[in-house]
Amino acid sequence: MDPVLARQNMVKEQLRERGINDPRVLASFLEVPRHKFVEDYLKYKAYEDYPLTIGYGQTISQPYMVALMTQSLMPQAGDKVLEIGTGSGYQAAILSKLCRAVHSIERISALASRARKIHDELRYYNIYIRIGDGTQGFPKEAPFEGIIVTAGAPHVPEVLIDQLGVGGRLIIPVGSETLQELKRITKTKEGVVEESLGGCRFVKLIGKNGWGT
Ligand code: SAM
Repeated sequence: MDPVLARQNMVKEQLRERGINDPRVLASFLEVPRHKFVEDYLKYKAYEDYPLTIGYGQTISQPYMVALMTQSLMPQAGDKVLEIGTGSGYQAAILSKLCRAVHSIERISALASRARKIHDELRYYNIYIRIGDGTQGFPKEAPFEGIIVTAGAPHVPEVLIDQLGVGGRLIIPVGSETLQELKRITKTKEGVVEESLGGCRFVKLIGKNGWGT
C-alpha cells in the first residue's frame, strides 16, 4: 500500500478512533514515515496495529502506544525533552516535529547508530542520540519540560523527577517484567502529581535505576 494512504488509515482507525485528538500529534503521525524505521522484510507491516521487532530483543512500539505517550506528554513547540530508549528512533522522530529539541538515550549502540542514520536521511536535525544508561537521565541537559521512558521500569527513578523543570511531565511504564501501568508524573511547585494512563507491556528498562544489568 502507498505509505501516505497507510498513514492516513493508521491515524484514522488506530489513533483518532481511540481518543488521540491533539491536532499537532495527529499531524506528526501523518508526516513521519514509520516504514523507514523498520527492517526491509517488515516494511509491509509498518502501519499495522502492533509492535514489531527491531532486533537485539527490542521492539518499535505499537503506533497507538507511541501516540498515547506522545499526547500525554503534552509537548509544546519550545520544549526540550528527553527520551529514554531510542530503539528504532520512531518515537524521537515524532517528538522532533512537536518540540524544540529531543535528547534520546539508548543502551544498545547498534540501535543508536541505526536510528541516527535514519534521522540524518530524513533531515531530522533536532534529535541528539547518546549511548548509555538512560535510567540516570541526562543531567547535563536538564531541566527538561518532558521525559518519556519507552521501556518498563520496576519503579519511578527519582533522578528523572529531579531532572524535570516545574510543570514538567514524566511518562513512564511501571510494574513487573511482563506487565506495567503507564503513568504520568507532573512536577509542580507543591510536589508531584501522579496519574494512571492504563495498562501496557514494554521490554525491560535495564540499568542502575531500572532492572539492573
Ligand atoms: N522508543 C523506541 C522506538 O520508537 O522504537 C522503542 C523503544 S523499545 C520498546 C525500548 C528500548 O529501550 C530498547 O531499544 C532498549 O534497548 C532501550 N533501553 C532499555 N533500557 C535502557 C536504558 N537503561 N537506557 C537506554 N535505553 C534503554
